[in-house]
Amino acid sequence: MLYEDYDIIIIGGGPAGLAAAIATGRRKTLLVEREERLGGILKQCIHDGFGLLRFGERLSGPEYAHRFITELGKTAVKVKLQTFVSKIERTAEGGFRLLLTNRDGMESVTAKAVILATGCRERTARQAAIHGARPAGVLTAGAAQYYVNIMGQLPGKRCVILGSGDIGLIMARRLTLEGTDVLGVFEAKQTPSGLSRNIVQCLNDFNIPLHVSKTVTRVFGDARVEAVETASVDRDMRPIAGTEETIACDCLILSVGLIPENELAESLGVSLNPATKGPFVDQHSMTMLPGLFSCGNALHVNDLVDYVSESGEEAGKTAAAFVLHPSAYSRSFVDIFPHFFPTADILCVTPQCIDLNHLDEKTALFFRVREERGKTTVSIRREPPAESGADGEEVFRKTYRRLRPPEMEKITLDLRCLQEGEKVTISIL
Ligand SMILES: Cc1cc2nc3c(=O)[nH]c(=O)nc-3n(C[C@H](O)[C@H](O)[C@H](O)COP(=O)(O)OP(=O)(O)OC[C@H]3O[C@@H](n4cnc5c(N)ncnc54)[C@H](O)[C@@H]3O)c2cc1C
Repeated sequence: MLYEDYDIIIIGGGPAGLAAAIATGRRKTLLVEREERLGGILKQCIHDGFGLLRFGERLSGPEYAHRFITELGKTAVKVKLQTFVSKIERTAEGGFRLLLTNRDGMESVTAKAVILATGCRERTARQAAIHGARPAGVLTAGAAQYYVNIMGQLPGKRCVILGSGDIGLIMARRLTLEGTDVLGVFEAKQTPSGLSRNIVQCLNDFNIPLHVSKTVTRVFGDARVEAVETASVDRDMRPIAGTEETIACDCLILSVGLIPENELAESLGVSLNPATKGPFVDQHSMTMLPGLFSCGNALHVNDLVDYVSESGEEAGKTAAAFVLHPSAYSRSFVDIFPHFFPTADILCVTPQCIDLNHLDEKTALFFRVREERGKTTVSIRREPPAESGADGEEVFRKTYRRLRPPEMEKITLDLRCLQEGEKVTISIL
Protein backbone atom coordinates (compact mmCIF):
# COMPACT_ATOMS: atom_id res chain seq x y z
CA MET A 1 0.00 0.00 0.00
CA LEU A 2 1.22 3.51 -0.88
CA TYR A 3 1.18 6.31 1.73
CA GLU A 4 1.21 10.05 0.97
CA ASP A 5 0.53 13.26 2.92
CA TYR A 6 -1.17 16.38 1.56
CA ASP A 7 -2.36 19.69 2.94
CA ILE A 8 -5.71 19.46 1.14
CA ILE A 9 -7.54 16.64 -0.62
CA ILE A 10 -10.51 17.39 -2.85
CA ILE A 11 -12.95 14.58 -3.64
CA GLY A 12 -14.71 15.05 -6.99
CA GLY A 13 -13.43 16.64 -10.20
CA GLY A 14 -16.65 18.35 -11.34
CA PRO A 15 -16.98 22.14 -11.51
CA ALA A 16 -17.04 22.43 -7.70
CA GLY A 17 -13.89 20.36 -7.20
CA LEU A 18 -12.06 22.06 -10.07
CA ALA A 19 -12.78 25.55 -8.71
CA ALA A 20 -11.78 24.42 -5.21
CA ALA A 21 -8.50 22.92 -6.44
CA ILE A 22 -7.53 26.07 -8.35
CA ALA A 23 -8.31 28.22 -5.28
CA THR A 24 -6.04 26.25 -2.92
CA GLY A 25 -3.08 28.19 -4.32
CA ARG A 26 0.32 26.92 -3.30
CA ARG A 27 -0.82 24.32 -0.77
CA LYS A 28 0.07 20.69 -1.45
CA THR A 29 -3.23 19.58 -2.95
CA LEU A 30 -4.61 16.34 -4.36
CA LEU A 31 -7.74 16.16 -6.52
CA VAL A 32 -9.35 12.71 -6.67
CA GLU A 33 -11.87 11.80 -9.38
CA ARG A 34 -13.44 8.38 -9.93
CA GLU A 35 -14.08 8.86 -13.65
CA GLU A 36 -11.45 8.84 -16.39
CA ARG A 37 -11.85 12.57 -17.19
CA LEU A 38 -12.35 15.73 -15.17
CA GLY A 39 -15.49 17.85 -15.57
CA GLY A 40 -18.11 15.92 -13.60
CA ILE A 41 -21.59 15.92 -15.01
CA LEU A 42 -20.74 18.83 -17.33
CA LYS A 43 -19.03 16.39 -19.70
CA GLN A 44 -22.44 15.19 -20.88
CA CYS A 45 -24.24 18.58 -20.85
CA ILE A 46 -23.61 19.64 -24.46
CA HIS A 47 -26.34 22.29 -24.53
CA ASP A 48 -25.40 25.91 -23.90
CA GLY A 49 -26.30 28.28 -21.05
CA PHE A 50 -23.41 27.57 -18.68
CA GLY A 51 -21.30 30.44 -17.33
CA LEU A 52 -23.66 33.35 -18.02
CA LEU A 53 -22.88 34.97 -14.66
CA ARG A 54 -19.16 34.20 -14.50
CA PHE A 55 -18.09 34.69 -18.11
CA GLY A 56 -21.07 36.58 -19.58
CA GLU A 57 -21.17 33.91 -22.31
CA ARG A 58 -23.45 31.00 -23.14
CA LEU A 59 -21.01 28.10 -22.93
CA SER A 60 -21.74 24.40 -23.26
CA GLY A 61 -20.96 22.18 -20.24
CA PRO A 62 -17.70 20.81 -21.71
CA GLU A 63 -16.60 24.35 -22.72
CA TYR A 64 -17.25 25.62 -19.20
CA ALA A 65 -15.35 22.71 -17.64
CA HIS A 66 -12.49 23.12 -20.13
CA ARG A 67 -11.78 26.66 -18.90
CA PHE A 68 -11.26 25.36 -15.37
CA ILE A 69 -9.30 22.29 -16.48
CA THR A 70 -6.94 24.63 -18.38
CA GLU A 71 -6.50 26.80 -15.27
CA LEU A 72 -5.89 23.73 -13.14
CA GLY A 73 -3.12 22.67 -15.54
CA LYS A 74 -1.22 25.84 -14.59
CA THR A 75 -1.17 24.86 -10.90
CA ALA A 76 0.84 22.25 -9.00
CA VAL A 77 -2.32 20.39 -7.92
CA LYS A 78 -1.87 16.62 -8.30
CA VAL A 79 -4.78 14.85 -10.00
CA LYS A 80 -5.63 11.18 -9.60
CA LEU A 81 -8.22 9.95 -12.12
CA GLN A 82 -10.14 6.67 -12.05
CA THR A 83 -9.58 6.74 -8.34
CA PHE A 84 -12.38 6.18 -5.87
CA VAL A 85 -12.42 7.40 -2.28
CA SER A 86 -13.84 4.42 -0.50
CA LYS A 87 -13.23 5.43 3.12
CA ILE A 88 -12.52 8.53 5.16
CA GLU A 89 -11.69 8.83 8.85
CA ARG A 90 -10.20 11.29 11.34
CA THR A 91 -6.58 10.97 12.38
CA ALA A 92 -5.44 11.29 15.98
CA GLU A 93 -3.86 14.65 15.05
CA GLY A 94 -7.24 16.06 13.94
CA GLY A 95 -6.66 15.64 10.20
CA PHE A 96 -8.15 13.09 7.79
CA ARG A 97 -7.05 9.74 6.39
CA LEU A 98 -8.57 8.56 3.09
CA LEU A 99 -8.45 5.18 1.46
CA LEU A 100 -8.12 5.46 -2.33
CA THR A 101 -8.82 2.59 -4.71
CA ASN A 102 -7.61 2.52 -8.30
CA ARG A 103 -5.97 0.25 -10.84
CA ASP A 104 -2.69 0.41 -8.94
CA GLY A 105 -4.40 -0.97 -5.85
CA MET A 106 -5.06 0.76 -2.55
CA GLU A 107 -3.48 3.96 -1.31
CA SER A 108 -3.70 5.62 2.09
CA VAL A 109 -3.45 9.41 2.00
CA THR A 110 -3.74 12.00 4.75
CA ALA A 111 -4.63 15.69 4.68
CA LYS A 112 -5.18 18.54 7.11
CA ALA A 113 -8.34 19.54 5.21
CA VAL A 114 -10.76 17.71 2.91
CA ILE A 115 -13.18 19.26 0.44
CA LEU A 116 -16.20 17.18 -0.50
CA ALA A 117 -17.23 18.02 -4.08
CA THR A 118 -18.96 14.74 -4.86
CA GLY A 119 -22.02 16.20 -6.62
CA CYS A 120 -25.43 14.58 -6.44
CA ARG A 121 -27.25 11.55 -7.75
CA GLU A 122 -30.65 11.22 -9.37
CA ARG A 123 -33.77 9.80 -7.76
CA THR A 124 -34.74 6.50 -9.35
CA ALA A 125 -38.02 4.81 -10.33
CA ARG A 126 -38.12 3.01 -6.97
CA GLN A 127 -37.94 6.36 -5.18
CA ALA A 128 -40.75 7.69 -7.39
CA ALA A 129 -43.03 4.77 -6.39
CA ILE A 130 -43.99 3.48 -9.83
CA HIS A 131 -45.56 0.03 -9.99
CA GLY A 132 -44.84 -2.71 -12.49
CA ALA A 133 -41.88 -4.76 -13.66
CA ARG A 134 -38.52 -3.26 -14.50
CA PRO A 135 -38.27 -3.69 -18.28
CA ALA A 136 -35.51 -2.08 -20.34
CA GLY A 137 -36.35 1.49 -21.27
CA VAL A 138 -36.85 2.99 -17.78
CA LEU A 139 -33.95 5.32 -17.07
CA THR A 140 -33.07 8.53 -15.31
CA ALA A 141 -32.67 11.72 -17.34
CA GLY A 142 -28.95 11.78 -16.56
CA ALA A 143 -28.53 8.24 -17.87
CA ALA A 144 -30.49 9.17 -21.01
CA GLN A 145 -28.24 12.22 -21.41
CA TYR A 146 -25.19 9.97 -21.16
CA TYR A 147 -26.61 7.55 -23.78
CA VAL A 148 -27.36 10.31 -26.29
CA ASN A 149 -24.52 12.78 -25.75
CA ILE A 150 -21.61 10.50 -24.86
CA MET A 151 -22.47 7.12 -26.41
CA GLY A 152 -24.42 8.45 -29.41
CA GLN A 153 -27.34 6.06 -28.82
CA LEU A 154 -31.06 6.74 -28.54
CA PRO A 155 -32.76 5.27 -25.47
CA GLY A 156 -36.13 4.97 -27.28
CA LYS A 157 -38.35 6.09 -30.17
CA ARG A 158 -41.53 7.01 -28.27
CA CYS A 159 -40.81 8.42 -24.89
CA VAL A 160 -42.68 9.72 -21.83
CA ILE A 161 -40.90 11.93 -19.30
CA LEU A 162 -41.89 11.91 -15.65
CA GLY A 163 -40.92 15.03 -13.73
CA SER A 164 -40.25 18.51 -15.02
CA GLY A 165 -36.79 19.02 -13.51
CA ASP A 166 -34.26 20.80 -15.69
CA ILE A 167 -32.46 17.68 -16.84
CA GLY A 168 -35.77 16.14 -17.98
CA LEU A 169 -36.72 19.32 -19.85
CA ILE A 170 -33.33 19.48 -21.54
CA MET A 171 -33.61 15.82 -22.50
CA ALA A 172 -37.13 16.39 -23.92
CA ARG A 173 -35.59 18.85 -26.41
CA ARG A 174 -32.47 16.79 -27.02
CA LEU A 175 -34.42 13.60 -27.78
CA THR A 176 -36.81 15.52 -30.06
CA LEU A 177 -33.86 16.91 -32.01
CA GLU A 178 -32.49 13.37 -32.36
CA GLY A 179 -35.79 12.05 -33.76
CA THR A 180 -37.52 10.57 -30.71
CA ASP A 181 -41.22 11.26 -30.36
CA VAL A 182 -41.49 12.86 -26.90
CA LEU A 183 -45.13 12.27 -25.99
CA GLY A 184 -45.27 14.52 -22.97
CA VAL A 185 -43.78 15.61 -19.67
CA PHE A 186 -45.83 14.63 -16.60
CA GLU A 187 -45.41 16.60 -13.38
CA ALA A 188 -47.17 15.64 -10.13
CA LYS A 189 -46.86 19.15 -8.70
CA GLN A 190 -49.16 21.95 -9.82
CA THR A 191 -46.26 23.92 -11.26
CA PRO A 192 -43.19 22.79 -13.21
CA SER A 193 -39.94 22.10 -11.30
CA GLY A 194 -37.52 23.41 -13.92
CA LEU A 195 -36.25 26.89 -14.73
CA SER A 196 -38.70 29.08 -16.68
CA ARG A 197 -36.20 29.45 -19.54
CA ASN A 198 -36.09 25.66 -19.93
CA ILE A 199 -39.92 25.37 -20.01
CA VAL A 200 -39.98 27.89 -22.86
CA GLN A 201 -36.90 26.78 -24.81
CA CYS A 202 -37.18 23.01 -24.32
CA LEU A 203 -40.95 22.35 -24.27
CA ASN A 204 -42.93 25.28 -25.70
CA ASP A 205 -40.56 25.85 -28.64
CA PHE A 206 -40.91 22.17 -29.62
CA ASN A 207 -44.64 21.78 -28.90
CA ILE A 208 -43.98 19.14 -26.25
CA PRO A 209 -46.99 19.00 -23.91
CA LEU A 210 -46.51 19.56 -20.18
CA HIS A 211 -49.14 17.89 -17.95
CA VAL A 212 -49.10 19.23 -14.41
CA SER A 213 -50.87 17.49 -11.48
CA LYS A 214 -50.32 14.20 -13.29
CA THR A 215 -48.00 11.31 -12.64
CA VAL A 216 -46.96 7.93 -14.00
CA THR A 217 -48.39 5.15 -11.83
CA ARG A 218 -47.47 1.98 -13.70
CA VAL A 219 -45.06 0.64 -16.30
CA PHE A 220 -46.18 -2.12 -18.69
CA GLY A 221 -43.88 -4.51 -20.56
CA ASP A 222 -41.64 -7.47 -19.80
CA ALA A 223 -38.36 -7.28 -21.69
CA ARG A 224 -39.00 -3.72 -22.94
CA VAL A 225 -41.36 -0.89 -21.92
CA GLU A 226 -44.57 -1.16 -23.98
CA ALA A 227 -46.71 1.48 -22.27
CA VAL A 228 -47.12 3.54 -19.12
CA GLU A 229 -50.20 4.39 -17.10
CA THR A 230 -50.68 8.01 -16.07
CA ALA A 231 -53.15 9.45 -13.57
CA SER A 232 -54.17 12.83 -12.21
CA VAL A 233 -53.12 13.49 -8.60
CA ASP A 234 -54.76 15.40 -5.76
CA ARG A 235 -53.11 18.25 -3.84
CA ASP A 236 -51.22 15.68 -1.74
CA MET A 237 -49.97 14.11 -4.97
CA ARG A 238 -52.02 10.92 -4.49
CA PRO A 239 -53.33 9.39 -7.76
CA ILE A 240 -57.07 9.95 -8.28
CA ALA A 241 -58.90 6.70 -9.09
CA GLY A 242 -60.71 6.74 -12.44
CA THR A 243 -58.32 9.22 -14.11
CA GLU A 244 -55.92 6.56 -15.42
CA GLU A 245 -54.80 6.67 -19.06
CA THR A 246 -52.50 4.28 -20.90
CA ILE A 247 -49.87 5.67 -23.26
CA ALA A 248 -48.03 3.35 -25.65
CA CYS A 249 -44.29 4.08 -25.54
CA ASP A 250 -40.94 2.29 -25.42
CA CYS A 251 -39.15 4.53 -22.96
CA LEU A 252 -39.85 6.24 -19.63
CA ILE A 253 -37.40 8.91 -18.52
CA LEU A 254 -37.36 10.04 -14.89
CA SER A 255 -36.46 13.55 -13.87
CA VAL A 256 -37.73 13.44 -10.31
CA GLY A 257 -35.02 15.18 -8.37
CA LEU A 258 -31.40 15.13 -7.30
CA ILE A 259 -29.99 14.09 -3.94
CA PRO A 260 -26.60 15.39 -2.74
CA GLU A 261 -24.07 12.55 -2.41
CA ASN A 262 -22.92 12.61 1.17
CA GLU A 263 -22.06 9.09 2.30
CA LEU A 264 -18.47 10.15 3.02
CA ALA A 265 -19.62 13.11 5.16
CA GLU A 266 -22.04 10.86 7.04
CA SER A 267 -19.33 8.30 7.69
CA LEU A 268 -17.46 11.06 9.56
CA GLY A 269 -20.53 11.67 11.72
CA VAL A 270 -21.42 14.94 9.99
CA SER A 271 -25.16 15.49 10.29
CA LEU A 272 -27.06 16.50 7.19
CA ASN A 273 -29.56 19.30 6.95
CA PRO A 274 -32.97 17.77 6.12
CA ALA A 275 -33.83 20.89 4.12
CA THR A 276 -30.82 20.75 1.75
CA LYS A 277 -29.67 17.11 2.23
CA GLY A 278 -26.16 18.53 2.50
CA PRO A 279 -24.00 19.23 5.58
CA PHE A 280 -24.52 22.31 7.75
CA VAL A 281 -21.88 24.86 6.75
CA ASP A 282 -20.66 28.35 7.57
CA GLN A 283 -20.28 31.10 4.95
CA HIS A 284 -16.95 29.62 3.82
CA SER A 285 -18.40 26.17 3.04
CA MET A 286 -16.73 24.65 6.13
CA THR A 287 -18.90 22.03 7.83
CA MET A 288 -19.29 21.85 11.58
CA LEU A 289 -16.28 19.51 11.56
CA PRO A 290 -13.19 21.77 11.42
CA GLY A 291 -11.21 21.18 8.23
CA LEU A 292 -14.04 19.43 6.36
CA PHE A 293 -15.62 21.45 3.54
CA SER A 294 -18.61 20.78 1.30
CA CYS A 295 -19.33 22.57 -1.97
CA GLY A 296 -21.29 22.41 -5.22
CA ASN A 297 -24.17 19.96 -5.52
CA ALA A 298 -22.91 17.91 -2.57
CA LEU A 299 -23.77 20.92 -0.39
CA HIS A 300 -27.16 21.71 -1.93
CA VAL A 301 -28.64 21.22 -5.39
CA ASN A 302 -27.72 24.24 -7.51
CA ASP A 303 -29.55 25.44 -10.59
CA LEU A 304 -26.61 27.47 -11.91
CA VAL A 305 -23.14 26.03 -12.36
CA ASP A 306 -21.72 29.51 -11.70
CA TYR A 307 -22.83 29.19 -8.04
CA VAL A 308 -21.29 25.71 -7.93
CA SER A 309 -17.89 27.13 -8.93
CA GLU A 310 -18.31 29.99 -6.45
CA SER A 311 -18.84 27.62 -3.52
CA GLY A 312 -15.86 25.52 -4.65
CA GLU A 313 -13.66 28.61 -4.71
CA GLU A 314 -14.83 29.62 -1.26
CA ALA A 315 -14.01 26.14 0.08
CA GLY A 316 -10.59 26.05 -1.62
CA LYS A 317 -9.58 29.51 -0.47
CA THR A 318 -10.65 28.89 3.13
CA ALA A 319 -9.08 25.42 3.25
CA ALA A 320 -5.79 27.01 2.15
CA ALA A 321 -5.99 29.43 5.10
CA PHE A 322 -7.13 26.72 7.50
CA VAL A 323 -4.23 24.33 6.85
CA LEU A 324 -1.64 26.96 7.81
CA HIS A 325 -2.65 26.73 11.52
CA PRO A 326 -5.52 24.24 11.90
CA SER A 327 -5.51 24.31 15.71
CA ALA A 328 -5.55 28.13 15.79
CA TYR A 329 -8.53 28.40 13.43
CA SER A 330 -11.32 29.11 15.91
CA ARG A 331 -14.88 29.86 14.91
CA SER A 332 -17.72 31.68 16.67
CA PHE A 333 -21.16 31.06 15.19
CA VAL A 334 -24.31 33.07 14.70
CA ASP A 335 -27.16 30.89 13.42
CA ILE A 336 -29.33 31.74 10.45
CA PHE A 337 -33.04 30.92 10.74
CA PRO A 338 -34.75 29.01 9.28
CA HIS A 339 -31.81 26.65 8.88
CA PHE A 340 -33.13 23.24 9.73
CA PHE A 341 -36.67 22.45 8.66
CA PRO A 342 -38.38 24.32 5.84
CA THR A 343 -40.92 26.91 7.00
CA ALA A 344 -44.26 27.55 5.30
CA ASP A 345 -42.50 30.11 3.07
CA ILE A 346 -38.84 29.16 2.83
CA LEU A 347 -37.57 25.78 1.65
CA CYS A 348 -33.89 26.11 2.52
CA VAL A 349 -31.10 28.56 3.30
CA THR A 350 -27.33 28.12 2.85
CA PRO A 351 -25.12 28.73 4.80
CA GLN A 352 -26.85 27.82 8.03
CA CYS A 353 -24.51 29.82 10.26
CA ILE A 354 -22.06 32.70 10.07
CA ASP A 355 -18.56 32.45 11.51
CA LEU A 356 -17.98 35.84 13.17
CA ASN A 357 -14.22 35.30 13.40
CA HIS A 358 -13.79 35.13 9.63
CA LEU A 359 -16.28 37.65 8.26
CA ASP A 360 -15.52 39.24 4.90
CA GLU A 361 -16.88 42.53 3.62
CA LYS A 362 -19.50 40.60 1.64
CA THR A 363 -21.31 37.41 2.64
CA ALA A 364 -23.42 35.41 0.18
CA LEU A 365 -26.66 33.75 1.31
CA PHE A 366 -28.68 31.42 -0.92
CA PHE A 367 -32.33 30.53 -0.44
CA ARG A 368 -35.24 28.87 -2.17
CA VAL A 369 -38.92 29.54 -1.53
CA ARG A 370 -41.28 26.68 -0.85
CA GLU A 371 -43.95 27.63 -3.38
CA GLU A 372 -44.32 29.83 -6.44
CA ARG A 373 -44.98 33.42 -5.43
CA GLY A 374 -45.75 36.66 -7.26
CA LYS A 375 -44.49 39.99 -5.94
CA THR A 376 -42.74 39.12 -2.67
CA THR A 377 -40.66 41.07 -0.15
CA VAL A 378 -37.82 39.28 1.59
CA SER A 379 -36.37 40.68 4.79
CA ILE A 380 -33.20 39.73 6.68
CA ARG A 381 -32.82 40.86 10.28
CA ARG A 382 -30.22 40.53 12.99
CA GLU A 383 -31.90 39.72 16.27
CA PRO A 384 -30.23 40.20 19.66
CA PRO A 385 -30.90 37.59 22.37
CA ALA A 386 -34.42 37.95 23.83
CA GLU A 387 -33.05 38.58 27.35
CA SER A 388 -31.14 41.67 26.16
CA GLY A 389 -34.43 43.51 25.57
CA ALA A 390 -32.82 45.28 22.61
CA ASP A 391 -34.58 45.67 19.24
CA GLY A 392 -33.45 43.80 16.17
CA GLU A 393 -32.32 45.54 12.99
CA GLU A 394 -33.24 44.90 9.35
CA VAL A 395 -30.01 44.43 7.36
CA PHE A 396 -31.57 43.59 3.99
CA ARG A 397 -34.89 44.06 2.22
CA LYS A 398 -35.77 43.37 -1.38
CA THR A 399 -39.00 43.03 -3.30
CA TYR A 400 -38.87 40.35 -5.99
CA ARG A 401 -41.25 40.34 -8.95
CA ARG A 402 -41.55 36.58 -8.73
CA LEU A 403 -39.98 33.75 -6.74
CA ARG A 404 -39.99 30.07 -7.76
CA PRO A 405 -38.67 27.01 -5.87
CA PRO A 406 -36.48 25.82 -8.79
CA GLU A 407 -34.67 29.16 -8.90
CA MET A 408 -32.14 29.59 -6.11
CA GLU A 409 -31.81 33.23 -5.08
CA LYS A 410 -28.52 34.76 -4.02
CA ILE A 411 -28.26 37.69 -1.61
CA THR A 412 -24.93 39.40 -0.97
CA LEU A 413 -24.72 41.54 2.16
CA ASP A 414 -22.35 43.00 4.73
CA LEU A 415 -22.78 41.14 8.02
CA ARG A 416 -19.84 42.64 9.87
CA CYS A 417 -22.37 44.33 12.18
CA LEU A 418 -23.25 40.94 13.76
CA GLN A 419 -22.47 40.40 17.44
CA GLU A 420 -22.00 37.23 19.44
CA GLY A 421 -25.28 35.85 20.84
CA GLU A 422 -27.37 37.30 18.01
CA LYS A 423 -29.17 35.36 15.32
CA VAL A 424 -30.04 36.16 11.71
CA THR A 425 -33.56 35.58 10.42
CA ILE A 426 -34.68 35.50 6.83
CA SER A 427 -38.40 35.87 6.29
CA ILE A 428 -41.04 36.74 3.77
CA LEU A 429 -43.14 39.77 4.70
C1 LIG B 1 -27.39 13.75 -14.40
C2 LIG B 1 -27.26 15.24 -14.23
C3 LIG B 1 -27.38 16.09 -15.33
C4 LIG B 1 -27.28 17.46 -15.19
N1 LIG B 1 -27.49 18.26 -16.26
C5 LIG B 1 -27.44 19.59 -16.08
C6 LIG B 1 -27.67 20.44 -17.18
O1 LIG B 1 -27.97 19.97 -18.28
N2 LIG B 1 -27.57 21.80 -16.99
C7 LIG B 1 -27.24 22.34 -15.78
O2 LIG B 1 -27.16 23.58 -15.62
N3 LIG B 1 -27.02 21.54 -14.73
C8 LIG B 1 -27.12 20.20 -14.85
N4 LIG B 1 -26.92 19.40 -13.77
C9 LIG B 1 -26.57 20.06 -12.54
C10 LIG B 1 -25.05 19.94 -12.39
O3 LIG B 1 -24.84 18.78 -11.62
C11 LIG B 1 -24.36 21.06 -11.67
O4 LIG B 1 -24.53 22.29 -12.33
C12 LIG B 1 -22.86 20.84 -11.52
O5 LIG B 1 -22.34 19.98 -12.51
C13 LIG B 1 -22.55 20.29 -10.18
O6 LIG B 1 -21.16 20.29 -10.01
P1 LIG B 1 -20.47 19.45 -8.90
O7 LIG B 1 -19.01 19.60 -9.13
O8 LIG B 1 -21.02 19.80 -7.58
O9 LIG B 1 -20.93 17.93 -9.19
P2 LIG B 1 -20.65 16.96 -10.43
O10 LIG B 1 -20.56 17.68 -11.72
O11 LIG B 1 -21.68 15.89 -10.30
O12 LIG B 1 -19.20 16.35 -10.07
C14 LIG B 1 -18.99 15.50 -8.96
C15 LIG B 1 -17.80 14.63 -9.27
O13 LIG B 1 -17.42 13.91 -8.11
C16 LIG B 1 -16.99 12.61 -8.48
N5 LIG B 1 -17.11 11.74 -7.28
C17 LIG B 1 -18.21 11.52 -6.51
N6 LIG B 1 -17.94 10.67 -5.50
C18 LIG B 1 -16.63 10.34 -5.62
C19 LIG B 1 -15.75 9.50 -4.87
N7 LIG B 1 -16.16 8.83 -3.77
N8 LIG B 1 -14.45 9.38 -5.27
C20 LIG B 1 -14.02 10.06 -6.36
N9 LIG B 1 -14.81 10.88 -7.11
C21 LIG B 1 -16.09 11.03 -6.75
C22 LIG B 1 -17.95 12.26 -9.61
O14 LIG B 1 -17.44 11.24 -10.44
C23 LIG B 1 -18.08 13.59 -10.35
O15 LIG B 1 -17.15 13.75 -11.39
C24 LIG B 1 -27.01 18.03 -13.91
C25 LIG B 1 -26.88 17.15 -12.81
C26 LIG B 1 -27.00 15.79 -12.95
C27 LIG B 1 -26.86 14.88 -11.74
